Amino acid sequence: MGVKENLGAVRQAIAAAARKSGRSPDEIILVGVTKTFSLESIVTALNAGLSDIGESRLQEAEYKFPRVPPGVTKHFIGHLQGNKVRKAVALCDMVQSVDSLKIAGKISDAAASAGKAIPVLIEILTDEEKEFGVRPAELADFLRSASDMKGIRIQGLMTVGPQEANPEGSRPLFRDIKRVFDSIPSMRIKNVEMRYLSMGMSSDFAVAIEEGASMVRVGTAIFGKRARQ
Ligand SMILES: *Cc1c(COP(=O)(O)O)cnc(C)c1O
Repeated sequence: MGVKENLGAVRQAIAAAARKSGRSPDEIILVGVTKTFSLESIVTALNAGLSDIGESRLQEAEYKFPRVPPGVTKHFIGHLQGNKVRKAVALCDMVQSVDSLKIAGKISDAAASAGKAIPVLIEILTDEEKEFGVRPAELADFLRSASDMKGIRIQGLMTVGPQEANPEGSRPLFRDIKRVFDSIPSMRIKNVEMRYLSMGMSSDFAVAIEEGASMVRVGTAIFGKRARQ
């Protein structure tokens, strides 16, 4: 199957999962994850109606993002090094992978000096063995500290599931993160919105939507298998 057909199948699966969770399919934002994939296949997906793309590698974002037509929403979804922040902020519309206060501060400074405030999501660490992210128990303090940063608008949370062969393996974690997401608004932290919950990838996006994701990040199910990682 080609990219266009794959995209149609992903859309159908998103719609089915949305209905299962009592929501309308258009409440779910599909971010096509483009790492390792060619500009041609990205353009094919955009022509077939994909509205959002995401990159986890700055070098690839630097090549691809300026070459897609205007109006496409561009997400950065990978770990950022401090010295790359300014570039990322210039290239993308949202940074989903804010994984430390230090990076949050640098993103804020870079955006503020460019005269803007950039939407961000906070990446939640779900596995002690993973290197980057904010632990659920530390999230409230994190948000309070980051709420003074003028150059970012905190709009939600992002997480990466365990990526087991069986998508059901992701369900308990997604359920926990949704609970954390729902617990934040009542804390009334200024400048913090919980508008987007970004969870679910090719292997587990349907389960993520059933558990409350409002944004999914899907690469291989749209663009095919990666020739390299
Ligand atoms: C690569 C990547 C994805 C998409 O993964 P697929 O399995 O290709 O759908 C989603 N989120 C992040 C953070 C990624 O790095």
